Amino acid sequence: MNNRIRGDLAEIAKVNRSKRIKLADGASVPRIGQGTWFIGENESRREEEVAALRLGVELGMDMIDTAEMYGDGRSERLVGEAIKGIRDEVFLVSKVYPHNAGNMRLARSCEESLNRLGTDHLDLYLLHWRGNIPLEETVEGMERLVEQGKIARWGVSNLDTGDMKELLRIAEGTHCVTNQVLYHLGSRGIEYDLLPWQKGHRMPVMAYSPLAQAGSLRKGLVENATVQEIARKHEVSPLQIMLAWTIRENDVVAIPKASSPDHVIENASAGLIQLTNEELWRLDDAFPMPSWKVPLDMI
Ligand code: NDP
Repeated sequence: MNNRIRGDLAEIAKVNRSKRIKLADGASVPRIGQGTWFIGENESRREEEVAALRLGVELGMDMIDTAEMYGDGRSERLVGEAIKGIRDEVFLVSKVYPHNAGNMRLARSCEESLNRLGTDHLDLYLLHWRGNIPLEETVEGMERLVEQGKIARWGVSNLDTGDMKELLRIAEGTHCVTNQVLYHLGSRGIEYDLLPWQKGHRMPVMAYSPLAQAGSLRKGLVENATVQEIARKHEVSPLQIMLAWTIRENDVVAIPKASSPDHVIENASAGLIQLTNEELWRLDDAFPMPSWKVPLDMI
């Protein structure tokens, strides 16, 4: 284990388990969970990916995010393999395609996800992004799935502030527990209005691509001198600093995707990094939040 990894594994697990975020219905989730986009696509890496996810759960990153879209169900199948025997320890999240998010199709999609995941319920089911099916119909379908015990709760993804307001005007739209959106140090648009709005509604943001896909979503992010210097000071990598930055307050849950145990350990140990106010100001200087409304960033 190199010096970027702070603390031993037991300490990492202990800290991550002790610092959790409450959803509006009282359920608790870790500040750092695990994404699974592109996981399960390469047979030769299957064993390592399963081991990586299981290690992540051991280290307190016990929320796993997947979707029917990812690899046409291959990600869900791999997650199903990874959670075998530890289903009760995992907060399991999947997402439905917008074109499947109405009437009978929603129930069918959910059932197919459950089959691939080898479980009888999801802890959270999200509308992947807004499509043509009216939100009312999706809310109604989600509520039905809750009544049937197929899902414990539901939420949305890639909805901007206007869409969220519209959602909450629908009867039972207030049961939405989260909105999963793109958020990393190089993309801070949600801080202008969506993040404060969700905070006001006790609805934590679930941050996807918190590592900006290892920096590839924004040139100059990982290489930035301030990020590099702060990383050196903490003896961690720039990506770990980016992850610690994303969860710096108790209103964001990050779901980095890692397919190797080494990356999983690095991500889990980011939960131990405490950025100082001075470091946060310097990062603000290097990557300011916008002072005007920008359209929701998404990939
Ligand atoms: P991330 O920002 O999580 O970056 C993933 C990349 O970073 C992978 O290439 C991974 O490599 C690499 N990586 C992870 N940890 C480390 C590390 N410690 N050091 C170096 N490299 C590292 O990108 P994603 O887009 O995957 O976002 C995370 C998750 O969010 C997705 O997997 C998915 O579950 C969800 N998502 C949701 C979307 C939505 O529309 N709702 C859209 C996009 C993502 P490696 O695999 O080799 O470890």
